[in-house]
Amino acid sequence: MTASSHLDWPFLEPHHKTLATELDRWAGRMLRDELQDHSVLAVDDACRKLVCQLGEGGWLKYAIGGVAYGASADTIDTRAVCLIRETLARHSGLADFAFAMQGLGSGAISIFGSHEQKQRYLPRVADGNAIAAFAISEPDAGSDVAALQCAARKDGDSYLINGEKTWISNGGIADFYLMFARTGEAAGAKGISAFIVDANTAGLEIAERIEVMAPHPLARLVFQDCRIPATQRLGDPGQGFKIAMSTLDIFRSSVAAAALGFARCALHEALSRSTSRKMFGQALADFQFTQAKLAKMATDIDSAALLTYRAAWLKDKGLSVTVEAAMAKMTATEIAQQAIDSAVQIFGALGVVSGQAVERLYREIRPLRIYEGATEVQQLIIARGIIKSHQEGERKA
Ligand SMILES: Cc1cc2nc3c(=O)[nH]c(=O)nc-3n(C[C@H](O)[C@H](O)[C@H](O)COP(=O)(O)OP(=O)(O)OC[C@H]3O[C@@H](n4cnc5c(N)ncnc54)[C@H](O)[C@@H]3O)c2cc1C
Repeated sequence: MTASSHLDWPFLEPHHKTLATELDRWAGRMLRDELQDHSVLAVDDACRKLVCQLGEGGWLKYAIGGVAYGASADTIDTRAVCLIRETLARHSGLADFAFAMQGLGSGAISIFGSHEQKQRYLPRVADGNAIAAFAISEPDAGSDVAALQCAARKDGDSYLINGEKTWISNGGIADFYLMFARTGEAAGAKGISAFIVDANTAGLEIAERIEVMAPHPLARLVFQDCRIPATQRLGDPGQGFKIAMSTLDIFRSSVAAAALGFARCALHEALSRSTSRKMFGQALADFQFTQAKLAKMATDIDSAALLTYRAAWLKDKGLSVTVEAAMAKMTATEIAQQAIDSAVQIFGALGVVSGQAVERLYREIRPLRIYEGATEVQQLIIARGIIKSHQEGERKA
């Protein structure tokens, strides 16, 4: 690494640099094969294999919190999660996805779970023996997540769940679903609770597998009189929205980090191609139009990285990062999309050939501007946050 590497920035500690360097070496050895077969079966198999590999490599212990349950630390190290996602994304979008979902699907257990729940799920997530999923979106509740309708009714010592979830990553291969359902303590966000539903529970059905432009396991789930013990509720009744948002406060910065990984990969590809492609008697990189593109890519990547690691650092200091994580997620995903588009342009026709690195990146980056809160939702979060701070400042003055 050069002295100007982001790994030397003051947001990170020496063990973070070691982690990123070791993972980079491991990924270089282990993640060579890009998926050629995009069928559901092949993608499922590849994901299962990646989860096992990441578990065996010891990387998934960073996806959970609690040393007693196999984690690297007692609380999730947000900077480590970001560095892992950034590094994996540079090597393989699917490996990044496999790591991210282990974290997102079990994060609420790490933060809010009882000792029994942690003991039952977290060690298996950390060693790659259980695949996790996070199920909050519904056909009529995506951005407006507090409008979710899937319902859980208390019935003695159990809950009966009825309703639908869609766009669920790892749907079909997950061993358990961290899901959110309306329990009715109040209207809107305050009437939702969180539950852990094992994939083999009667009444939970994978109703549809959904194929997307950057292939990964995705499904629509139907819950029909799905009965789970009340002990599978996570946290208090009515606390589900808070649980979901607290989990996203950690993992939203990591979406930014994954976008950075894709963008860095695009910049590397663009530099390689533009310095070697000859035209009009010189290299493509000798033209100032090309240099402007490369300069913008590099500068945008550094600005997004600063926002990303600032958010992760603040989170690790125990501060609220709702606004900072939203700024990081919005900026990194938007600039990564632009950087990748520039890389495709630099490649010319070769850039749109299936299987080319930049073509794959072009498909990989697109959903990141939508999931875990679309860019417009991040704008709302940021604006609400700064308006609130301004008004509080005015009142104190
Ligand atoms: C690949 C992929 C994986 C996913 N994985 C999961 C998962 O594992 N678990 C899960 O629960 N969900 C998952 N999702 C769902 C994702 O979180 C939702 O797609 C997202 O929240 C947006 O919801 P929606 O698709 O219903 O879009 P809508 O809510 O219909 O929004 C459509 C568009 O409207 C715009 N918009 C939204 N709000 C506003 C506003 N206030 N003002 C102006 N414009 C606005 C945005 O551009 C947005 O993209 C995944 C989605 C994708 C694409």
